[in-house]
Amino acid sequence: MDLWYTEKQTDNFGITMKVTRTYENEQTDFQHLTMIETEEWGTMLTLDGMVMTSVRDEFVYHEMVAHPALVTHPNPENVLVVGGGDGGVIREVMKHPKVKKAVLVDIDGKVIEYSKKYLPTIAGELDNPRVEVIVGDGYMHIAKHKNAYDVIMVDSTEPVGPAVELFSKGFYQGIYEALKEDGIFVAQTDNPWFKADLIQTVNRDVKEIFPIVRVYGANIPTYPSGLWTFTMGSKKHDPLAVEAASIPEFETKYYTPRLHAAAFVLPKFVEDLVK
Ligand code: SAM
Repeated sequence: MDLWYTEKQTDNFGITMKVTRTYENEQTDFQHLTMIETEEWGTMLTLDGMVMTSVRDEFVYHEMVAHPALVTHPNPENVLVVGGGDGGVIREVMKHPKVKKAVLVDIDGKVIEYSKKYLPTIAGELDNPRVEVIVGDGYMHIAKHKNAYDVIMVDSTEPVGPAVELFSKGFYQGIYEALKEDGIFVAQTDNPWFKADLIQTVNRDVKEIFPIVRVYGANIPTYPSGLWTFTMGSKKHDPLAVEAASIPEFETKYYTPRLHAAAFVLPKFVEDLVK
């Protein structure tokens, strides 16, 4: 008998995948966590029934959260990752030698614990000496650290449960204040097929706070609709002003210097959402 994991992405549509083993399946203090082995995507972390990351396609999301902002900021010494307990964004941040310290704040220690145990290729840099891991609420951390970071990345779950507050205008205002005078922030902002209003609301809120706001996309097959967006708010540096030739070489499987600018070219129906 086959076992299948199904993520209902709307009330009427979802994805399903064959599961060969279940490593963990528990209700943590914050969310329902499973760690499963899937035939198609390898080891996979899910939270509250949603795919978080899989060994096979994780590189797309983690590279695209980290690199556009880190090549745009001229000297990203201090970086904050809100969420990101699987360690994938931190792994990409560590590819930038200018980063002196990266702080990760995830509310759920179980995500960090199980990612280290079952996702070593993703979580491997969480023990890097340049990394500080804090188990706590990202909203509270932001409120307590003013003018502290060059780049802030919000790698949170969807706006459900503990992450609801991470999509609020107040949170983006707090991020603005936690950033230094030329800081840059980027947040994952879901998909235009099922979450168009979220993308629009976040874009409107961020535009009221940051002088430069850019949206870019990537293909993430295990995420709802496969077309994922990221919203960047910048106090001074424009990602579209970065010349491909000036982008340093580092090991990637999705992001490239030429893809940097191309990612900001949006399909018309997405462009219309963020005009
Ligand atoms: N790439 C995934 C996505 O786009 O949905 C997110 C992966 S990462 C595992 C999401 C993390 O956000 C989870 O580990 C969760 O514990 C964390 N998180 C949710 N709300 C949070 C909060 N208020 N403060 C800090 N971390 C939070």
